[in-house]
Amino acid sequence: MQEKVTVPVSRFAAFMGYCQIGIINHYELKLEKVISPAIKLGKKIHSELEEEDKLIPRKKATKEELSDPLFDLDMPRESLMIHIRRENKNIFGYLGRLDKVIREKGTIYIIDDKITKNGRVWHKPFLDKRVQLAAYCEGFVTRYPEIVFNEIIYLVVQRDQNGTVLKEFPQVYDQEQKDFLLENFETFEGIYNGDIDPVHCGNPNKCRACGYKDCQHKLE
Ligand code: SF4
Repeated sequence: MQEKVTVPVSRFAAFMGYCQIGIINHYELKLEKVISPAIKLGKKIHSELEEEDKLIPRKKATKEELSDPLFDLDMPRESLMIHIRRENKNIFGYLGRLDKVIREKGTIYIIDDKITKNGRVWHKPFLDKRVQLAAYCEGFVTRYPEIVFNEIIYLVVQRDQNGTVLKEFPQVYDQEQKDFLLENFETFEGIYNGDIDPVHCGNPNKCRACGYKDCQHKLE
């Protein structure tokens, strides 16, 4: 019988970008994941940014304004939700909430804030971030067709533990990104369905930092 599988986009991205063994740990073995101090800090800074954003005076955009790509938009933080439905033996529903979306000069920017505790500036965003943001773009396009644009870009904003921006990483969401996302959906669903074996991260440093403390595949 077909199952309905609800998957937060952030969790899907972590499985695909950090370690695919997590899919087995979560769905088959039902292991608990410890919430790290970095995740707690991220939540705190996200709430602070949301509170600041509420101070920006706004009025609701009209239907005409939404459909005019050259009318600039600034959506309230955390106000847009996405849902991507896919059928692959089971029915998968990928859910997410977008940190921030703006439209400037015809370009939609899907913005996601990532907090780094150690303050080390990335060379480029890690794979899990790229999977997550590609899914957000796809979800935005399908969920909000009334918001017209000429181009869509995702922007990973790296911040330090005080919320100060360290670096921004823009990426156009194009066909290559769509194919990359599709490949990741198919791999995740294949592992969930038992058709594909998960790939181990192969990295003891990742295992040490991983929230699955009872993982049987942990590398020392
Ligand atoms: S402990 Fe290691 S093998 Fe297990 S899920 Fe975490 S990263 Fe993967």
